[in-house]
Amino acid sequence: MNYSLKIFSVFGIPIELHISFLLLMLAIYFVALFNLIPGVSLTIAVLITLLFVAVVIHELTHCYVAVGYGVEIERVVLLPIGGVSQMKELPKDPHQELRIAVVGPLSNLVIAGVLYPFYLYFGHALSTDLNFLLYYTILLNLLLGLFNLLPAFPMDGGRVLRAYLAERMNFIRATKLAASIGKQLAIVMAIIGILIVNPFLIFIAIFVYVGADQEYNVSMTNTLLEGIRVKDIMSSEVKTVNPSDSVDSVLKLMFQHKHMGYPVIQDGEIKGIITFHDISKLPEDQRYRTVEEFMTKKVVVTDPREEVASTLEKLTNNRIGRLPVLENGQLVGIISKTDVMKALEMKKTTLSQ
Ligand SMILES: [Zn+2]
Repeated sequence: MNYSLKIFSVFGIPIELHISFLLLMLAIYFVALFNLIPGVSLTIAVLITLLFVAVVIHELTHCYVAVGYGVEIERVVLLPIGGVSQMKELPKDPHQELRIAVVGPLSNLVIAGVLYPFYLYFGHALSTDLNFLLYYTILLNLLLGLFNLLPAFPMDGGRVLRAYLAERMNFIRATKLAASIGKQLAIVMAIIGILIVNPFLIFIAIFVYVGADQEYNVSMTNTLLEGIRVKDIMSSEVKTVNPSDSVDSVLKLMFQHKHMGYPVIQDGEIKGIITFHDISKLPEDQRYRTVEEFMTKKVVVTDPREEVASTLEKLTNNRIGRLPVLENGQLVGIISKTDVMKALEMKKTTLSQ
């Protein structure tokens, strides 16, 4: 999702335009200005811009309510079919999540509802172009509102459904149920799409299906890891090695202790990290060489007080298996992806009982 450009910020939240939306707008303006396709006039280009405005309003209402509840929003990405407000953490109270989710589509329905009487009573007095713009602005807002109310992740309706269920059962069961309802809806949409040969509907169905899965995994992991800090699950007894140690001795250590990575320490300071992957392919007659030659020098570290959820993010983003834990520059432990997965499994078992 990094194919987006920051265009402005509101309430300190960066608002980003997804490249697909930008290209769509540019393409339509280009076609309209040079009269490349009959029927695609400047009016159509203006209409796309009005769609953009509708999406912006939609997202800003989400942000407005979320900020009011003290929820931090990392960024907002604008897509042609709506936007995504990436929240740093979900609101604790399902009631709040419901309100944050529902205001977006509601804002589009309100726009459509307010404009409709104007269209009805004054539409005929307007020029053909303005009449056309008014009619389609109403229609686009109506569709945007209704589409985003579909009870499936990643649509707002999915969140509304989850929040509704979460008031009646625990959050994890609610997420599971909401995701499965979303997937079933996606399958029905795909079948209808195939029957009436509508590629757009099939595309939306795939989007919904994948979104339901992703949302389920992300919110499951975040919920389960909530409140767990690095110090709770790290191993504090850390074996370390020296930069001048031989590869051979480190390999022996790995087989002996079944740990696949070690921090490299010199004079109490961390110099790097060496993993099984770094040295396992080295031929036997080369194993006299030193750790320093093969270790990763740029070490990503974590803090004992850090939330495990953000440590997991670091591990995933850097594609690494373990992080040394430093407190005031001193090595106090090590945390691996396996530690996080174990904690996840344990929380899952205790919560489903
Ligand atoms: Zn929305």
